[in-house]
Amino acid sequence: MLYRGVGIGYGLGLGTVHHLNFLTADPDPAIDPASDIAQEQESAARAFDALIGDYRKQGEQSDKDDVAELCKFYVMFLSSAALRREVSTSIADEHINAASALTRVIGSKRDELAALDNPYLAERASDLDDLARRLSARVLGLEEPDLSALSGPTVIVVDELPPSLMLSRNLSQLVGIVTRRGGRTSHAAILAALRDIPAVFAVADAAELLKEGEEVLIDAAAGTVETELDDEARALALQRKEQKARRSVALQKFIGVPIRSADGVELTVLANAGDLTEVDEVARICPEGIGLFRTEFLYLNRGSAPTEAYLKGVTTRILQSFPRGRVIARTLDVGGDKDVSYLNIAREDNPFLGRRGIRHSLAFDDIFQTSLRAFLAASGQASGRLRLMYPMVTSPAEVTAANEALARARASLDDEDIAYDTKLCVGAMIETPAAAVRVAEFLELCDFVSIGTNDLTQYTLAVDRGNATVAALYSHFDPAVLRLIEGVIRAGRDSGRSADVEMCGEMASDPLALPLLLGLGLRVYSVSTPFVLRTKRLLSLLDTELCAKLARQVMTCATADAVRSLLESAARGMYADWYF
Ligand code: PEP
Ligand code: MG
Repeated sequence: MLYRGVGIGYGLGLGTVHHLNFLTADPDPAIDPASDIAQEQESAARAFDALIGDYRKQGEQSDKDDVAELCKFYVMFLSSAALRREVSTSIADEHINAASALTRVIGSKRDELAALDNPYLAERASDLDDLARRLSARVLGLEEPDLSALSGPTVIVVDELPPSLMLSRNLSQLVGIVTRRGGRTSHAAILAALRDIPAVFAVADAAELLKEGEEVLIDAAAGTVETELDDEARALALQRKEQKARRSVALQKFIGVPIRSADGVELTVLANAGDLTEVDEVARICPEGIGLFRTEFLYLNRGSAPTEAYLKGVTTRILQSFPRGRVIARTLDVGGDKDVSYLNIAREDNPFLGRRGIRHSLAFDDIFQTSLRAFLAASGQASGRLRLMYPMVTSPAEVTAANEALARARASLDDEDIAYDTKLCVGAMIETPAAAVRVAEFLELCDFVSIGTNDLTQYTLAVDRGNATVAALYSHFDPAVLRLIEGVIRAGRDSGRSADVEMCGEMASDPLALPLLLGLGLRVYSVSTPFVLRTKRLLSLLDTELCAKLARQVMTCATADAVRSLLESAARGMYADWYF
């Protein structure tokens, strides 16, 4: 049998199924207020301290910067005096035990994150789930699963993968992961990819379909889990595993190397980043730079807005990590249902169509000014490398208004004799149909534009990108979406500015989409870090003339399915061994 889900990484994993279950529920949360409050508060404090100790040790022992950074983030979160106070208050005021208070308090922070419409940020919620679960396990005296004690090649099956499991030092017997929930951009997924453990997430009913002890084959690139294997399938799997291992070594040679298409056209691949814990790994894999830095991450998990000094410090540190590359900081993309308590975001009936992205920044000038002054001041330290990009614009007037705000920020820095890059490049995201159809006007106003296919698909097709009920209607291969993308790329070409049209939505890393995008004339691709080297390699195998012919054919297709199957057969011919 073959089951499908969302593949994480590229590898194959052959092993036996082991189900992991986590006990978190506490049957009786009530405590006796007269005698137990202090004891429970003490127990919560001990759990915090013990976990801080664990993460410190794991961070120090790790040879991977990302793991060390992630551990630092956990230590910082767990050390928050405000958080610890909230847990103590919850125990005292609600008369509940430590495990329940920890679950409730961290759970409410988790819910805030999970409600965000940005899948990348929403998936940070699973980090908080994991912390709450581990703290509760401590106070309840429950054992945590130990993956270093697996007895043979094992594929774990779990409801949702806690990132902490991926921090274990010895994962030599873990050959695959299957989950029922979770997405491509969760920390757990990023860590699994970093540790090269093939995973397939979001396999519905994984717990029932896969039996304890049965042999399964995970194919992360295809996003499949296969059961009932015969000798032939097993031998083929081993052979493909060896081939893939050789290729992943071969990919390393693309690090930091400029690329061209097979017929010599210069191309650029940059990385998307949102989380500070990632920056060192992004800089290692993609020293060319960051094509989308989702700065909203700097505003989450806090009680008040970040200061100018903090934003400047973070931006400077990121720029320092890319001494040869550029960094595109997208200004705050909150609003709608990304509810950050101190940012004055009112409840709205249709939050995706509400005060999102640039609309929020234009409505709250003080928050916008703080960030613009910080970005400008950071740009002064390294001329020409920082760029700014406005999210979710729908009219050129919004860019003009945002540029006016930027001019005011410049003037205020002039008054204080603070240096900044006077030629700072400014761009707009093309992620609404309105922006796509008026792209020529945006190009007049901006140094560059970047196509955000995640939102462009959602807004063009009127399909909520986070709503599973209508997920089948959401496709960046829909002919309507493709026509908008074609128009945006053409506008760049017609004005002799192809290099100023970038793409930073997930489509830019889709192996099936690459021949089409190259054929349409896209030259700059910004993709999640795990896909940077693969994207470079695939683009370097393609011929722009052949791809242009393919693109013309694709543009005559009437449905997303027809587009996909045409692109599938094209990819089979162009780089079959890489994708299939
Ligand atoms: C997009 O919409 O394509 C995009 C890159 O931005 P985000 O996913 O952060 O909305
Ligand atoms: Mg977007």
